[in-house]
Amino acid sequence: MIDIGEAQRRVLEDIPVLGQERIHILDALGRVLARDVKAIRDVPSRDNSAMDGYACRYEDVVGAEPSRPVDLRLIGESRAGALFGGVVGAGEAVSVMTGGVIPDGADAVIKVEDTFRDGNRVRCIRGVQKGTYIRTQGEDVRAGGVVLKEGCAIGPPEIGMIATLGHGYVHVYQRPVVGILSTGDELVDLDEPFSDGKVVCSNTYSLAAQVMEAGAIPLSLGIASDSEEDQRDRLADGLRADVIVTSGGVSVGKYDLVKATLADVGMRVKFWKVAMKPGKPLVFGTIGTKPVFGLPGNPTSAMISFEQFVRPALLKMMGHRALFRKVIEARLAKDVPAEPGRLHLVRCKLIEENGRVWALSTGTQSSGALRSMVLADGLMILPPVRDVFPKGSQVRVQLLHTSRPLVHESPFWSDELFREEPDLARMA
Ligand code: AMP
Ligand code: MG
Repeated sequence: MIDIGEAQRRVLEDIPVLGQERIHILDALGRVLARDVKAIRDVPSRDNSAMDGYACRYEDVVGAEPSRPVDLRLIGESRAGALFGGVVGAGEAVSVMTGGVIPDGADAVIKVEDTFRDGNRVRCIRGVQKGTYIRTQGEDVRAGGVVLKEGCAIGPPEIGMIATLGHGYVHVYQRPVVGILSTGDELVDLDEPFSDGKVVCSNTYSLAAQVMEAGAIPLSLGIASDSEEDQRDRLADGLRADVIVTSGGVSVGKYDLVKATLADVGMRVKFWKVAMKPGKPLVFGTIGTKPVFGLPGNPTSAMISFEQFVRPALLKMMGHRALFRKVIEARLAKDVPAEPGRLHLVRCKLIEENGRVWALSTGTQSSGALRSMVLADGLMILPPVRDVFPKGSQVRVQLLHTSRPLVHESPFWSDELFREEPDLARMA
């Protein structure tokens, strides 16, 4: 049995980064740039106005005040998109709208609020400096420079920047297809009749959702019975995927055959069993260069093992550099029992109070209890050294959802879980 850090290292050292593809920028959200993006022109391409007002020569109005106004003569207009062709001379002004190109001869903009207009006369009651309210050519981006580097994760701002630079397509790393196989004689799929003693195969769906959330493409290989033949056939079918993920059948029960059938289809085992709870009976190996993850069948064990091993691997394949979820420090709101010898990942809620974050177990930590995953904001990382982690102690928590806020106002939680709880502030 190896520890979780060592297991992650062994997984990641075997994971290849996929090839590149060229896609439309609107398909690039969440993808990773496979090539630098360079500017083919300056942005903005010309000096332009940051305000609605008048372009002028700054020496003309530098000393203007309400008691000493300066009058300029209006000679034209420069709108965003429609240039003024002439030159601004001494004592002259051209009306400019925000984004309008600054005409030749002008070197400042006086904003409309600092002027009074009467026909062709523009009375200025404030001074300006050289360059006031001018966005200079190339101030955002210089032609020829690298604006976004290979390895950059593409979000909405990056898409806007790439569009600004005039590129409609970008080179990104490919996304892996992940074959997902559930195993177990007790499993029925959603469209099959349910009877007592059966279990709805939820792993195919939770794992597919995790694959999609990571940005990869799930491919269901269905449900295999606990028979070597059925498992072999479906795994053989799964070889068209880039990654294979199975769930169930990797423990030491009589019908846990997945390790053996994976070996039959050519998997070289890199490790089996990780010193963690939940998720101990995990097997990892490769078929050729294809990574194969045999996850335990318990729904939460499967999801938590996916988080620790499969997600970082998929992110690496897609060119990401940040492979792990954010970890924060929190204090325990209650004692948390553990067993020495295995690292515990305890599903927890996070509650922020007076600038401090408290972690509270979601209740039952049974590996089958999916509800505890639904309620969880994160996983407490409890090192394998103690049998109880006392209330008030500092722990690290891996966040499971980057999008969920830390402050929860659900009355369910504050009522039910804090009913017999002492004042949190006094525990600090
Ligand atoms: P196993 O790892 O095959 O021993 O399965 C452990 C537990 O997880 C058993 O209670 C199974 O019924 C359950 N289980 C296995 N696979 C799935 C699945 N695909 N969906 C839901 N539960 C499952
Ligand atoms: Mg089973």
